[in-house]
Amino acid sequence: MHRTFMLAIAVCAWLAAGSARAQDNVLNLYSARHYQTDEALYANFTKLTGIKINRLEGREDELVERIRNEGSASPADILITVDASRLEVADKLGLFQPVKSTLLEERVPANLRTPNWYSFSTRARVIVHNKANVKRELVQNYEDLASPSLKGQVCMRSGSHPYNLSLGAALIAHDGEAKAEAWARGLVANFARAPKGGDTDQLRAVAAGECGVTVSNSYYLVRLLRSTKPADQEAVKALAVVWPNQASWGTHVNVSGAGVLKHAPHKDAAVKFLEYLASDEAQAYFANGNNEWPVVKSAVASNPELRSLGDFKRDALPMADLAKNIAAAQRAYDRAGWK
Ligand code: FE
Repeated sequence: MHRTFMLAIAVCAWLAAGSARAQDNVLNLYSARHYQTDEALYANFTKLTGIKINRLEGREDELVERIRNEGSASPADILITVDASRLEVADKLGLFQPVKSTLLEERVPANLRTPNWYSFSTRARVIVHNKANVKRELVQNYEDLASPSLKGQVCMRSGSHPYNLSLGAALIAHDGEAKAEAWARGLVANFARAPKGGDTDQLRAVAAGECGVTVSNSYYLVRLLRSTKPADQEAVKALAVVWPNQASWGTHVNVSGAGVLKHAPHKDAAVKFLEYLASDEAQAYFANGNNEWPVVKSAVASNPELRSLGDFKRDALPMADLAKNIAAAQRAYDRAGWK
């Protein structure tokens, strides 16, 4: 409640300042990313273009709800968020407009863009196990986590979280809906405890031996690797990472992405901003800010801990195809009892 209230105050002050007028040299950005390095990213855009950025930060669902309620009067030009499943939610609600840009088409790989939104960084959903408690050979693939040999060993966050829904959507694309549902059933049967907390909580539980294996977005692991806290350094010593499904369809990869909103008052500035995000310089900021990989091949992220994870075979499934399976993934998890 408190947070929504703060958000409302911020928007009132912003509107009172009159910054939503179309003739102004501004860009109104609704962002569900909250990384300090994003400050430098936005300041650099203003320096290059003279376009001032008004940023409204909030939770994904709050921002989407706000854009819906504002309708055609919305001052928002761009929505930036994480995970294809969330971009899909916004897209399904008709919040975006199509963007044609030769530059974006050249720089953002085809499988990481849709007609209505573009990806600007990638993250992998990796398997992390306790080195002492679970043998690496047993956890080479997502499918392995449903094997009865891992009974009582698996910790996972909620099945309705977008990260797990996107993983389910990938499993449906490659293995089919029936197999994906059977997988979820097997996974639930292997739970060491009922789902609770975020990915980092699962990593800590695996490190502490409360469970033997989990699935986590790669940047949470890199965050622990980069942490100077003794408890975190202790935790990473107990952990090992596996790139899942290297012998089959590749590791599930998700994205941070953005699209131009349907009623954007500053469409030209909005397209310019997306093109800016695809520049080598912005790519490095954008990806490094959350320990992710750039989507543009020529961009270089200076992030030794991220680089230390090495290279891997990625699932080539187009984000657009992944997004189509999100609803089916939720239904499969519901039937399998993955709360
Ligand atoms: Fe996250």
